[in-house]
Amino acid sequence: MSELEKVHAQIRKCRKCRLWKTRKHAVPGEGNPKAKIMFIGQAPGKTEDETGRPFVGRAGKLLTELLANVGLKREEVFITSVLRCFPPRNRMPKKDEINACNPYLKKQIAFIKPKTIVLLGNIAIKTVLGDIGKLEKIHGKKIKRNGITYIPTYHPAAGIRFPKLKKKIEMDFKTLLNQ
Ligand code: SF4
Repeated sequence: MSELEKVHAQIRKCRKCRLWKTRKHAVPGEGNPKAKIMFIGQAPGKTEDETGRPFVGRAGKLLTELLANVGLKREEVFITSVLRCFPPRNRMPKKDEINACNPYLKKQIAFIKPKTIVLLGNIAIKTVLGDIGKLEKIHGKKIKRNGITYIPTYHPAAGIRFPKLKKKIEMDFKTLLNQ
C-alpha cells in the first residue's frame, strides 16, 4: 500500500470529528496519485456520501465539464475536498471539523506533489491559503507558495446557481492551459 493509500485508509475509518457519526462513506478523494493538478472543494454532498467518491453529484458533473473544456480528464488530475465526511443537510463546515481534517489534506499534497492546485470556493481558499481577500477580487489569479501555483476560483455549486459565476469559473480554468 502506498503512503497515499494509507492516508485514504485512515480517512475511511476516521473519527476525529463529529461527522463520522452521520456519514455513510468518508470521501478521501480520487484521481492520479502523481497528478500535476489537484482540485480541492469544500465537503462531500449527499451523492458523494452515498458513493464514497468526490464530485459525483450535480457540481461534480459541472466540474467534469469544466475539466473537459480545458482538455483534462478526471483520471489525470486529483480531486478532493477540505472535509471528507458529509455535513448533515449540507451545512457549512465548522472550524473544529476543518482543523481536524486538514492534516489529511496536507499529507495528500505532500505525497501527490502537484505543481498546481485549484481551490474551489472560499472554504478551500481560506483553509489552504488563509485570508487572502475577497473571492471576486482574487479568483483566477495565480498565487505561488512553496513551489506550488494556487488558482482560487468559485465552487462549481455556485456556478450551477449563478450562470455569471459559471462563466467566471470557465475563465479561471483557462489559466490551466498556460501552466
Ligand atoms: S470530516 Fe475529516 S476529521 Fe471529520 S471524521 Fe471525517 S475524515 Fe475525520
